[in-house]
Amino acid sequence: MASASNATSGAAGISAAAASPQTAAPIPAPAFSAPFPVPAPATVNLLRPPVPLRRPDPAPPAPDVQARRQLLVGEFILEYVLRRSTRRSIGFMIDDDGLRVTAPKRCTLAEIDNAIRAKQHWILSKLDERRQRRAARLEKPPIEWIDGAVLPYLGSEITLRLYTAARNRSDFNPVTRELSMGLVQGATEHLLKERVKAWMKREAEQLFEQRLDLYAARLGVRHSAFSLTSAGTRWGSCTAQRVIRLNWKLVHFSLPLIDYVVAHELAHILEMNHSPRFWAAVESIYPRYAEAKELLRKRAQELPVLFS
Ligand SMILES: [Zn+2]
Repeated sequence: MASASNATSGAAGISAAAASPQTAAPIPAPAFSAPFPVPAPATVNLLRPPVPLRRPDPAPPAPDVQARRQLLVGEFILEYVLRRSTRRSIGFMIDDDGLRVTAPKRCTLAEIDNAIRAKQHWILSKLDERRQRRAARLEKPPIEWIDGAVLPYLGSEITLRLYTAARNRSDFNPVTRELSMGLVQGATEHLLKERVKAWMKREAEQLFEQRLDLYAARLGVRHSAFSLTSAGTRWGSCTAQRVIRLNWKLVHFSLPLIDYVVAHELAHILEMNHSPRFWAAVESIYPRYAEAKELLRKRAQELPVLFS
């Protein structure tokens, strides 16, 4: 679990500067009223005859076509997508789209329904968990990318300061906790987001590298390489070749949570599984791992969507 990418900056430096050389008055921060270029309205060519509507092609009868099915489970109507495959047993997958069942081609629908009923407790609780998480995420207002925007960083918040500059630059002042971004005239919100993301990745890479070295020494192991990822919900990974990858988005969380993921992945160098021996290795360098593990799960759910 866990991931993150490189980081370097951390340099101080306050924003307000960068007013253009010929004027003393500060230049107002660029406003991002229209975040993305709006596509031009479609034009209609009246001279040409209208194109006849094409009939949709008939759907090809695929043998493995996915079927949406319903099943009454206790008092619930459970909707699921059924997919046939060459696998030998019935499998269940739950994601934001709901339940997906993969079943061998020879399985009858009655057998599949029975398998679902046998697993109903697990399925219903997982679906409920998903639904709650999704609702919590949707409740959060998206970040507004303007001067004064508040961004999650290392378990607390930093304030984004924007100013117009002759060329792009970014400085972080750890005292005021302000991330100042100089943007050229006419910079888009997309560009701003990319710049903030790049800054966070640089910070993440630098910090994670330090924490890896620290915990590797404590555990008495060595990783062969480290890189950042941005894999959806996976926080980190460790390969048999001792390559550790950490999700750069961990940089939103507090240092103890980052350290937990670092310790977790390093322990995989000793144990490529989640056996009691693995957890003992984690515990030897990170005693309160259970607490951190739970907190990471919680914090991840609370995180606003920053960069979709
Ligand atoms: Zn693991």
